[in-house]
Amino acid sequence: KAPPLGSSVIPIVNKLQDIFAQLGSQSSIELPQVAVVGSQSSGKSSVLEALVGRDFLPRGNDICTRRPLVLQLLQTKGRSNGGSDDEWGEFLHLPKDTRIYDFSEIRREIEAETNRLVGENKGVADKQIRLKIYSPNVLDITLVDLPGITKVPVGDQPTDIEARIRTMILSYIKAPTCLILAVTPANSDLANSDALQIAANADPDGHRTIGVITKLDIMDKGTDARNLLLGKVVPLRLGYVGVVNRCQEDILLNRTVKEALIAEEKFFRSRPVYHGLTDRLGIPQLAKKLNQILVQHIKVLLPDLKSRISNALVATAKEHQSYGEVTESRAGQGALLLNFLSKYCEAYSSLLEGKSEEMSTS
Ligand code: GDP
Ligand code: MG
Repeated sequence: KAPPLGSSVIPIVNKLQDIFAQLGSQSSIELPQVAVVGSQSSGKSSVLEALVGRDFLPRGNDICTRRPLVLQLLQTKGRSNGGSDDEWGEFLHLPKDTRIYDFSEIRREIEAETNRLVGENKGVADKQIRLKIYSPNVLDITLVDLPGITKVPVGDQPTDIEARIRTMILSYIKAPTCLILAVTPANSDLANSDALQIAANADPDGHRTIGVITKLDIMDKGTDARNLLLGKVVPLRLGYVGVVNRCQEDILLNRTVKEALIAEEKFFRSRPVYHGLTDRLGIPQLAKKLNQILVQHIKVLLPDLKSRISNALVATAKEHQSYGEVTESRAGQGALLLNFLSKYCEAYSSLLEGKSEEMSTS
C-alpha cells in the first residue's frame, strides 16, 4: 500500500547514514531525515507511531521520550504473508542481528535503554537510541522522535531543562536537510505553539516544515480547526495536516493503530466542517505528503552528493597512481615494490634528518 515514490533513492541514503553512525564520525554529508518537534504531550510519538503503523513507542501524559530516538524504517521486499514474522526491530546497542518481533518488547527495550543512561526519574539526555524497523508496510524513511519542550523541571531534571531540550532539538532540525514535523494540539493556541516557534527558528523560510495539528477530537465544543488547517491563522509554506490519534484511554484499552486509523477516517467523515479538506486530513495524507517532499529533497541533494563522491574518487585515484602502474607481470610487480620501498626509504631518511614537514607535503 505504501507509495513506491522514492523507493530507489532513499535506501542508499539510509545506508550512508548508518555507516556514518557506526563510524561515530560527524557526517560530512548532510542527509535528509524527518524530526518531530513540539511541546510535551502534544502527540509527537503518537504521530510517528501512526506513520509506522505499529505500536512500539513509549507514549503518555508524562515525559516519555527522554532521549532522541532515531528510527530507520526499511521496507522489506517480497510479498507479506500477513504473519507476525515479517516485521521486526533491531537496535544498534544490542548485538548484531538481534531481531525483535514483538513490538511491545521493542517499547520495553526503548524504556530500558532510556533508563540505563538517564535513570528512572525523568532525566533527559541527548545520546541517541538507534532503532531499525523492517516491515513490508512502511515507507523507506528515517524519523527522529525527540523529547518535548517542557518549562518546569521535574524529577532529576536540571533547572535549565527547557534551554537544554531546545538546544538538543535545534541540533537536529537546524540541518538544512532535516524535514520538520511541527506538532501542535488543536486544543491549544496555535499562535503560542512551541513547535512552530522552534521550527521557524531553524527553518525561517518554512521550506521544510510541515504543520501537524493533533487532537482534533478534543477541541472545545463549538470550535473547529478548519481555519488552522487552511493556514489562515499561522501561514505555513508547506501547509498543515490535521490528525486524530489515540487518546490515553485507547492506549490503556490496547486499541491498535489500525483501529485508530479507521476511527480517524470515520471522525473526519462525520464532521461536515472538514469536508472538502481531504488533502489536509489524516495520517495517510501526512505519509503521502512526507514522501513527496522527501523525494524532492533528495533530488535537490543528489548533484552535490555526486560531485563530492567523485572528488573523493579523483583524489583516491591520484594517490593510487602515485604508487605506480598496477601490473600483472613479475617484472612490473618488482618495479612497483621497488618504487614503494624507495619512497619509504626517502620518507624515513628525511624523518631521521628532522625534515618531517617535507614528508607531509610529499
Ligand atoms: P508526545 O509527548 O508529544 O510524544 O505525546 P504522546 O504521543 O506521548 O501523547 C501524549 C498523550 O496525548 C497520550 O496520552 C496520547 O494518547 C494523547 N494523544 C495524542 N494524540 C491525540 C489525539 O489526536 N487525540 C486524543 N484524544 N489524544 C491524543
Ligand atoms: Mg514522545
